[in-house]
Amino acid sequence: MPHFRIHLMRVVLLYPPISNVRYPYLSLPSLSAFLAREGYEPVVRDVNLEAFYHLVPPSESGEMDPHALQEALMDQGARGKRRERARRILMKTYLTYYKGFEAETSRASLGDTLRAGMEGRGDRFESYYTEHLIPWILRTDPAFVGLSIAYPTQMIHGFRIASLIRRANPRIHICMGGPTITKLVDDVAHHDELLNVVDSVILLHGELPLVRVVEAMRDGSSLEGIPNVAFKREGRFFRNPVSFSPIDMNSLPTPDFKGFPLRLYLSKDFTLPLISSRGCYWNRCTFCTYRELYKGAFQQRDAALVVEDMAKLHREHGCSHFRLMDDACSPAFLRSLAREIIRSGLRVAWSCFARFERGFTGDLLRLLARGGCKRLMFGLESHNQRILDLMRKGVRVEEIGRIVGQCHEAGIETRLMCMVGFPTETRSEALETMRFLIDYRDKYTSFAVQPFNLEGGTEIDRHPDRFGISKVYREDRVSHGLRYGYRFETRSGMGMEEAARMGEYITRKVREAARGSV
Ligand code: SF4
Repeated sequence: MPHFRIHLMRVVLLYPPISNVRYPYLSLPSLSAFLAREGYEPVVRDVNLEAFYHLVPPSESGEMDPHALQEALMDQGARGKRRERARRILMKTYLTYYKGFEAETSRASLGDTLRAGMEGRGDRFESYYTEHLIPWILRTDPAFVGLSIAYPTQMIHGFRIASLIRRANPRIHICMGGPTITKLVDDVAHHDELLNVVDSVILLHGELPLVRVVEAMRDGSSLEGIPNVAFKREGRFFRNPVSFSPIDMNSLPTPDFKGFPLRLYLSKDFTLPLISSRGCYWNRCTFCTYRELYKGAFQQRDAALVVEDMAKLHREHGCSHFRLMDDACSPAFLRSLAREIIRSGLRVAWSCFARFERGFTGDLLRLLARGGCKRLMFGLESHNQRILDLMRKGVRVEEIGRIVGQCHEAGIETRLMCMVGFPTETRSEALETMRFLIDYRDKYTSFAVQPFNLEGGTEIDRHPDRFGISKVYREDRVSHGLRYGYRFETRSGMGMEEAARMGEYITRKVREAARGSV
């Protein structure tokens, strides 16, 4: 039931750098749609995208002029060569800057990250913040600013922006939310950096707690007792009780993308994100932090409602490509989704994460292709059965090649994400994964190999001895590939450094094979 009273309190929601610029992240559109239904008029800004465009260097050649590039991207008539040329130039700039950031910050401890954020040392976005963002915040004069910290790569800039807002106007309530700050809140709660610049943290799903925090600001009441909120009191952070499924997913409105410069994002086809579930239906992998985060709670939005979301966004923005952001979509849900799309006559393409389930039969994959499935992204992790069993992936190696081959036959692209250096994994076991990637190189579309990361709160972290880990260095979390994890030693298998080298070796060898040199 919509509320018709517009609450006058100004609410600003920001998405800090550094994150993906291919399409908007889903947090702000979901939260702003929910707040609007509750009678608020939030103002959203994708600071990540704005900061990126601030970084694009002006060029004397004209081709690299940022305004010309933006015009080419936005020109609806230029969907062909001109737009694609501009998109490639911008994507190259983004990847260079992202890799530079990764190299600068890799191996930094969490404490270093927070300090770097607070101090803004040599920050390339500093002039954008001080000359554009902060003056705009002061003019807008919000009572509440929310910062969405979805990825570890946003920690430095999230804290930098929070510290600049605090300095510019200490009366503004600053709140952080998102999966990464939810995971790290206990680790950062004792750092003065957090206490100095953040008033509250929203844990897990933001809609209801955000409305309750904003109401409390409006009414001048305490945050005590509001589920899923941690807040500052007497120089400490207090955690209120957490509800793992605070709201029925079927009751949520379609995300609202109206405040976003949608044509300036860099996906090849204009793409918007959606989500159909919260939590993971499998929920058993021993290395997985999401499993611990949601404590097994799983919710699914009806396929018919997801198709309504697609239809609405297609009408409002002309978007016909969607990325489902679920941790993993089950074969049963995808079957319903494809049938609903076919029944509705909607012509859309979509992609999502999935597991190598036996249920992905050739028949189902052909149905998914007819229902708009363009790409499936699989957490392959390893092609060795012992390692898959230790991970508790619930996958048989023989299913992997079958499904990759049948996706190819059905016309569905696949991306395979692999992990190397799982505790006790040997060199020869890692090479089995490489062999699979080489043998099937004509069947899948892309791959990535990441070193294993021992993240806090996982089953491996709680029982390291069961996984052959002899020592964990817990002094502080360290960024590995921009994820925070602990250094560790194992009783057998590859060490961390060797695994990192093995990951690079596999990547190089598979790429060489794809170019035909092996
Ligand atoms: S399938 Fe993915 S999200 Fe689900 S438990 Fe495993 S790693 Fe976690």
